[in-house]
Amino acid sequence: MKKAYAFQTGQRAAWSLEKPAGKLFLEIAEISLMNRFLLVPTFLLAAVSAASAANAVPPVAAPPKAAMAPKLVEPHLRIARSGLKGHARVALTFDACMGKADDRILSVLVSERIPATIFVTARWLKHNPQALQVFLQNPDLFELENHGQNHIPAVDKPVSIYGIASAGSPEAVRQEVQGGADAMLAAGIVPPRWFRGSTAKYDLSSIAQIRAMGYRIAGYSVNGDGGSLLGAAVTEKRIAAAKDGDVVISHINQPTHAAGEGVAKAILDLKAKGTEFVRLQDVEDTGDDQTTQ
Ligand SMILES: [Zn+2]
Repeated sequence: MKKAYAFQTGQRAAWSLEKPAGKLFLEIAEISLMNRFLLVPTFLLAAVSAASAANAVPPVAAPPKAAMAPKLVEPHLRIARSGLKGHARVALTFDACMGKADDRILSVLVSERIPATIFVTARWLKHNPQALQVFLQNPDLFELENHGQNHIPAVDKPVSIYGIASAGSPEAVRQEVQGGADAMLAAGIVPPRWFRGSTAKYDLSSIAQIRAMGYRIAGYSVNGDGGSLLGAAVTEKRIAAAKDGDVVISHINQPTHAAGEGVAKAILDLKAKGTEFVRLQDVEDTGDDQTTQ
């Protein structure tokens, strides 16, 4: 399965305009770090040539440290299987990153009484009070969880992911997570227990940090809509192929994208096959990269 999780189009400008607090400090820190790197070779050369002269051994250059590129992970999440034939258990999860609400999907969830877990950002909440009311009026269907404040990747080192600047520091990761939760509480939502960051990528230290804040981190096992950039037919096929224990990720914030049509159809396909739909709060789960254990 393709693991790539494409970011959503049309949002790059907004991300780059909104630099997280502390970014300037980071940029200054990066410059001083660069200066230090420039100074190190001179110092090393002097030390190495002195050592070589003494030992007559050719110096071996130490490999450069990969301090600039944090190792990113995109964790998987699965739920406990039903184990019953013809009765697959599937968790549908939807990200509401920013933008609007996709009524094609929302109306199917409500009319067919399909439970789902929705990851909302503070940004999305601000602009979609009507959809929020639908979620809040159907507490038996919708579990609302934290997708962050400004949809900034929750990585604590500076890195660009799909062209989006990461939070870049532990302080900025904390702000992204806490800012999302604060907006949810202010909107009348119960305190979130799950977090999923923008782009669904993290580094291991940010995972540890978010876990220490009391969250489980929501990966997925089926990338349903490719960041809402896939066509309707391929989206429908991917989601309708979900198996017992799968966690499907797709988007509920792009009403103009073709993918949403496929999502809505796939929900009906799965229901017709006898699928049991569950929310993350209702079942046992297994996430890799220390995201839930
Ligand atoms: Zn998102």
